[in-house]
Amino acid sequence: MLPAPLKRLIAALSRLPGVGEKTATRYAFHLMNQPEYVAGELAQALTSFREELHFCPRCHHLAELQPAPATGTISSSSDLSGLCDICKNPRRDSRRICVIESVQDLIALEKTGEWDGVYHVLHGSLSPMRGVGPDQLRCASLIARVDAGGVDEVILATNADVEGEATALYLRRLVGTKAAVSRIATGVPMGGELEYLDRGTLGRALRDRRS
Ligand code: ZN
Repeated sequence: MLPAPLKRLIAALSRLPGVGEKTATRYAFHLMNQPEYVAGELAQALTSFREELHFCPRCHHLAELQPAPATGTISSSSDLSGLCDICKNPRRDSRRICVIESVQDLIALEKTGEWDGVYHVLHGSLSPMRGVGPDQLRCASLIARVDAGGVDEVILATNADVEGEATALYLRRLVGTKAAVSRIATGVPMGGELEYLDRGTLGRALRDRRS
């Protein structure tokens, strides 16, 4: 019933998470009914965002790709051009590294406004079931950062699920005594009522109590 270009658009849109064929069709007709520049801007953003981003070579957070310097320019050893905004920021404490699984986790932590150290994004967690071992994660570069010196504390902020715990345990062993290692606290959520908490969370909150 639909012309091929519209079908192609619907098929492409329905690949997005949470977007079924029905929603994709609604989006496609919405775009049809908008001025042409709306679809143009969307298309432009979709084609360029991958090319304009890269991963920070230090912490693996997303960073905007800067245009290459003109030939003949001398780049100093303190060249920060490839680094992300957090690694480049002199007000962040580079002696304390918070290790997380994903860029989304980094964004969530940044929103708390509680962290003024730097990060290390693993891009996943250890999962023998899914065939994810240390080599598939950014573990070696974390240890390289610690080995290079100047790191006092490594905070393991991986998820509180089985895989996140296994990853934290692995990294704790790997860092060893090269830096102080801590794990983020888990327990009673803000506004939480004890009677509705699951046994694991409540038990851990009791074990990890503080004075
Ligand atoms: Zn960075």
